[in-house]
Amino acid sequence: MKVAVFNTKQYDRRFLSAANAEHGHELIFYEAHLEPNTASLASGCPAVCLFVNDHASAKTLETLAAGGTQLIALRCTGYNNVDLEAAASLGMQVVRVTDYSPYSVAEHAVGLVMMLNRRLYKAYNRVRDDNFSLNGLMGFDLHGKTVGVIGTGKIGQCFAQIMKGFGCQLLGYDVQPNPACLELGMRYADLSNVLAIADVVSLHCPLLPSTYHLINATTIQQMKPGVMVINTSRGGLVDTRAVIEGIKSGQIGFLGIDVYEEEAELFFEDLSDTVIQDDVFQLLQSFSNVVITAHQAFFTQEAVGTIAETTLNSITEFEQGRSLTNAIALPARIPANA
Ligand code: NAD
Repeated sequence: MKVAVFNTKQYDRRFLSAANAEHGHELIFYEAHLEPNTASLASGCPAVCLFVNDHASAKTLETLAAGGTQLIALRCTGYNNVDLEAAASLGMQVVRVTDYSPYSVAEHAVGLVMMLNRRLYKAYNRVRDDNFSLNGLMGFDLHGKTVGVIGTGKIGQCFAQIMKGFGCQLLGYDVQPNPACLELGMRYADLSNVLAIADVVSLHCPLLPSTYHLINATTIQQMKPGVMVINTSRGGLVDTRAVIEGIKSGQIGFLGIDVYEEEAELFFEDLSDTVIQDDVFQLLQSFSNVVITAHQAFFTQEAVGTIAETTLNSITEFEQGRSLTNAIALPARIPANA
């Protein structure tokens, strides 16, 4: 099947091409993001493959549908960037990669915790500069601290498991508690209680209308002064301006993020020769207790390999008219004459 693959880097092409050896699809790789202006590139392709910062808005989907696209295959877990109602009304199906190494993201979240707590980013640079002073590098024992896990699905569970290994107390918030987390000894509480008690708050829930700006001026005030906040989920979970105020007041003691609300303009590109126009991002970068990585939490060989295999399996299932293992449930279609 002819597949337009948007937003590809060399590593995407390598892993997708290797996985495609078993499937034989005609993969047409584009570096461009999917957006209304680029959607026509997919004309004649029954399937289109997207990544986190492609925007499958209603307008984009209409152009895709007019060009014959019937399947949107997301090579990621989150699907906040697809207008599902529009896809349903155009008769499209949408698949994602529901399950790929949750360890990749959980381990990266733990990496951010360690980097911030022990100031490893400062220590690394200091020693390279022959500065062996310890001033300003003091951390705290994670052992015995309370970790608040917001969203205790696959990634939240792995994160909790690792933090349990450090000897942390586990506190969870989720609309649907996870029995495996209860077995780990996690206690569940409502969001404000988790925020009030946790020394480290790590976000692992999806970005939905109900979770948009979950971390905002009000919820930041509910947190323990000096709290560490980690976000490896989606940028929109956090009101960045409120977080900046929280950092300036000292309410937030540490911030580690792998995702940023306006990341589509920045992440995955080498912009080192340009002047970054996003003042909010630049201000965030300037704080010494903030560590930012550019949406790399998923980026392990295991995860990227599984993403490629799952995506191509979904496309093959679609081509063969089989039921789609990784389909996203779409809203019921509204008849055109309703
Ligand atoms: P999952 O579906 O296994 O778990 C999500 C959990 O969030 C579920 O337990 C669900 O009940 C819970 N949840 C849903 N709505 C909630 C709400 N309103 N409040 C609290 N909890 C709620 O998903 P996962 O595989 O663990 O992935 C979690 C998120 O991580 C994804 O949605 C994605 O945004 C993000 N992610 C980021 C990267 C990265 O590279 N940074 C990679 C993969 C996934």
